[in-house]
Amino acid sequence: MKTPENILKSTGIKSTIVRKKILDSFISNGVAISNQDLENNLPDLDRVTVYRTLLTFEEKGIIHKVNDGTGSVKYAMCHSDCSEHHHQDEHIHFHCTQCDHTICLDDTEVPSISLPDGYKMESCDIIIKGICKNCH
Ligand SMILES: [Zn+2]
Ligand SMILES: [Zn+2]
Ligand SMILES: [Zn+2]
Repeated sequence: MKTPENILKSTGIKSTIVRKKILDSFISNGVAISNQDLENNLPDLDRVTVYRTLLTFEEKGIIHKVNDGTGSVKYAMCHSDCSEHHHQDEHIHFHCTQCDHTICLDDTEVPSISLPDGYKMESCDIIIKGICKNCH
């Protein structure tokens, strides 16, 4: 089971109350959350601290950025194959237009994309919009 405590331990980041609170939000939400969501959930935390904590978590392979086309940067929990400076989050994201939640579709196969000659892919953000199973 993933707990804030053992995630911090396994990545070697010092455990602080702020870090634990932020990780806890990620684990309990299960959906991608933005900076703004975190500030709303944890109003007693300092903005800059929240921002820096997210950067640290991203660098350590704990969370990844999710670009869901809504204009705000969101983050979601990574899976165990991510490590420091090495993310493997080549999965599809799903954005529900009803509840506005964005989730990672880890088990959905990413279609292979062939680019025209001379183009080289650096990253690929696939975002599917629709209705999630909770809103169906
Ligand atoms: Zn990752
Ligand atoms: Zn929904
Ligand atoms: Zn994801």
